Amino acid sequence: MSLRQWERSADLLFREQARDMASMAAEKVAMVLRHGEDEFFFRLEARLAGANAARGVEELVAESPLVARLYVLDRAGRLVYPAAFRDGDAAVFGRVPAEIPPAVWERGGRRDLVVGEHVIVAAVLKARDGAPVVAAVARDLEALKRDVLDKTLASLEAPTIVAVLDHLDRRVWSRAPVERAEPVTAVTFRDELPRWRLALYQPAGFGPRQAVRRQVMVFTAAFVVLLALIAAGIVLAWRLTRRETEMARLKSDFVANVSHDLKTPLSVIRMFGETLEMGRVTSEAQRQEYYRVITRESERLSRLIDNVLDFSRIEGGRRRYDMAPAAIEPLVRETLDAFAIPLEQHGFKVDVDVPPDLPQIRMDADAVGQALANLVDNAIKYSGERRALRVAAVRRDGGVALSVEDDGLGIPRDEQARIFEKFYRVGRSETQGRRGSGVGLALVHHVVEAHGGRVTVDSEPGRGSRFTLWLPVR
Ligand code: ADP
Repeated sequence: MSLRQWERSADLLFREQARDMASMAAEKVAMVLRHGEDEFFFRLEARLAGANAARGVEELVAESPLVARLYVLDRAGRLVYPAAFRDGDAAVFGRVPAEIPPAVWERGGRRDLVVGEHVIVAAVLKARDGAPVVAAVARDLEALKRDVLDKTLASLEAPTIVAVLDHLDRRVWSRAPVERAEPVTAVTFRDELPRWRLALYQPAGFGPRQAVRRQVMVFTAAFVVLLALIAAGIVLAWRLTRRETEMARLKSDFVANVSHDLKTPLSVIRMFGETLEMGRVTSEAQRQEYYRVITRESERLSRLIDNVLDFSRIEGGRRRYDMAPAAIEPLVRETLDAFAIPLEQHGFKVDVDVPPDLPQIRMDADAVGQALANLVDNAIKYSGERRALRVAAVRRDGGVALSVEDDGLGIPRDEQARIFEKFYRVGRSETQGRRGSGVGLALVHHVVEAHGGRVTVDSEPGRGSRFTLWLPVR
């Protein structure tokens, strides 16, 4: 409804403006015409009063292109100039004296007449003897177009087309072709061009209604784009918030998990230490066993703390790697040695296949050892009924692929990509009861990337997992 109203008022405004413009243009044409003709009559009067009137008038007519024909008649209808009517003119111009009202004959002045098909401008002037005569002029149409209409109308700045229609509604002049344009308005000229009209047309497709429609279309498009942007913004904001909330949850889980992780080995160490201190352990063999437990738990504690510290260094961008060529085989052996007791305790069947003749690799042995330890630790932590650990190394694609495989719980396919994210731990039920901070694999990922290698996982829930570190030989 408001669109229709808008269209209507745009149309109204447009027509009003068009009418104003048309009136102004018509006024201008009339003024120019009148000015020219008044001057002509003024000079004609002078020539009529002068000696050798006929010659003088003839010259004047010759130099006035707008005047096609001139006849000067007295009040009785007798021809004063020229000597005789041209063919057919008597019927038209002969009627002029009778058409002039008596008052005009007395006072003088001009009258624009339409006689039959012709428009005649008549002016009552004084002849040499002081008697009034009437000068009747038929205009030259070509001169009118050229000298008056072209000059006044062609320069008009408007999107509409201006045309001039004569008293028989023939189009005498137009600024552009109007065949396919729609008429907007028409106004009559003043007396100078009696029954002539100045008409305005609008080119097809440029009407105010079409303009409104175009604008509405632009606004609608802009509005749609804006809506799309807002929607995209909302979705983005929502996703960001969700990520932030998720991160906040993971962080708080991380703190709880780490504290718990640290507490368990500490209590074991403390309990065994206290027992030893109180001298309750009598057999030497048992004492040795207790010492081993304390050492193992402290090592575990160190590993945990190293993990957290390294993780914080990585996060802060402060982790440095000391690269030096080193062999893989001793690294694997030392790492597995550190896990010898838990592996044995949990009844793991360990299978190592690391050829000693593998090429050396430029690496930070401590960092890679730590990554490997994290993988072995996970294999133990996330084991199920079947307890097996296979560590193997092979040459592949210009590097060494080191794999750690277990027959444990496995990882659901859709989570496999996320386990390398910091703090991420697979679905709570699976990991419940299994201690962990969620930074182990993030650390592995970072270490491997820093060495120009990659880490991949191949796992199936219920069957087991295989993590493979590939490091390039440089
Ligand atoms: P966490 O401290 O929880 O062990 P990690 O970054 O080492 O953190 O591991 C991320 C998650 O990946 C673990 O919570 C676990 O769910 C899963 N995961 C890692 N290794 C294994 C594996 N060998 N078997 C099954 N799941 C694993």
